[in-house]
Amino acid sequence: MTHIAVLGSTNMDLVAYVAKAPQRGETVTGREFRTVPGGKGANQAVAAAHAGADVSLIGAVGADSFGSQLRSTLEHSGVDTDHLRTTEGPSGTAHIVVDDEGGNAIVVIPGANGTVTALAPGDETLVATADALLLQLEIPLDAVVAGAKAARRHGVRTILTPSPAQPLPPPLLSSIDLLVPNEHEAAALTGVTDPREAATALLDQVPEVVVTLGSAGSLYAARGAAPLTVPAPQVTAVDSTGAGDTFVGTLAVALAEGREMSEALVWASAAAALSVQRPGSSSSMPYRSEIDAQAA
Ligand code: ADP
Repeated sequence: MTHIAVLGSTNMDLVAYVAKAPQRGETVTGREFRTVPGGKGANQAVAAAHAGADVSLIGAVGADSFGSQLRSTLEHSGVDTDHLRTTEGPSGTAHIVVDDEGGNAIVVIPGANGTVTALAPGDETLVATADALLLQLEIPLDAVVAGAKAARRHGVRTILTPSPAQPLPPPLLSSIDLLVPNEHEAAALTGVTDPREAATALLDQVPEVVVTLGSAGSLYAARGAAPLTVPAPQVTAVDSTGAGDTFVGTLAVALAEGREMSEALVWASAAAALSVQRPGSSSSMPYRSEIDAQAA
C-alpha cells in the first residue's frame, strides 16, 4: 500500500447554505446550517485515504469539542492521527457560505493550526517513510518550509497546494516537485491571468504544475514537455467545497502508485467530479471503487 503524509490544517467547517451569498452590509436568511470536519490538510488526508492509501496527518487540533470531533472523524476515515497534536485553545474553524450554484466564500480562523510552526520530534521519520508529502498554506509558512525540506532530504515527492494564495519564499519553492494552484491562485502567484501562461511562468520555479480550472478541468505543464489539458466530467455541482482537495489527495495516490501523470489526472478529475455532486467537503470524498467506476 502507498503511504501519503500530509502536513497541514484541520478545521471545523461551519457551513451555511443560502440561495445567494450576502453582499457587504447585507443580511440574508439561509436554508440550512451544518458543521462539517474540514481544513485543507485534513481534507487532502481523507481524500487520499478514501482513494486507497495509508495516510498520516501531521498538524494540531484544539483542546475543545471540535478538536475531539475532528480527530475521531479522521480516524473513522482511516487517517493515522498519531502525529496530530492537541494544543491549548480552540481548534481551527472555517466559516463557509455555499450558494445554490454550488459556489462558495470562506473565512478561515487558524486556531490550533497556528501553533504548527515546526516539525515535532518523530515527524521527520514519518515523512521519510512516505511516498509523498502533501502541503498547503493553512499552517504557518515556517512549518511548511520545514516539511518540504525534510521530504526533499529523504527523496520524498512534495506536492504543494498554494492556498490561501500568498508569496512563496524561494526555500519553499526549491523543495517542491509539483505545485497545484487553482486558476485564481495561479494568477495571484504570477500576476498572469491566463492559466496556461501562468503555468508556464510557474515552471521557472517548480518542475511540474497542475492548474485546476473548476468545471473546465485542469491543465498540466512540466519543464521540457508538452502541456496537457484534462477536461472535467460534465456533472451537476451542488457544493464545490473541497473539490481541489479531493483532486490533490487522489492525484497524489495515483502518482505514488506509479501511474503516468495523464492517467493520474483523469482519476483525480473523476474523484473531484464525484465530490462536487454531494454536499460537504471531507464527507463528500469518494472511495476508490467509485472513482474507478467514474473514471472508466
Ligand atoms: P478549488 O476547489 O481548489 O477551488 P477547482 O474549483 O479548480 O479547485 O476544482 C478542482 C478540480 O475539481 C477541477 O480541476 C475539476 O477537476 C474538479 N471540479 C471542480 N468543479 C467541478 C464541476 N463543477 N464539475 C466537475 N468537476 C469539477
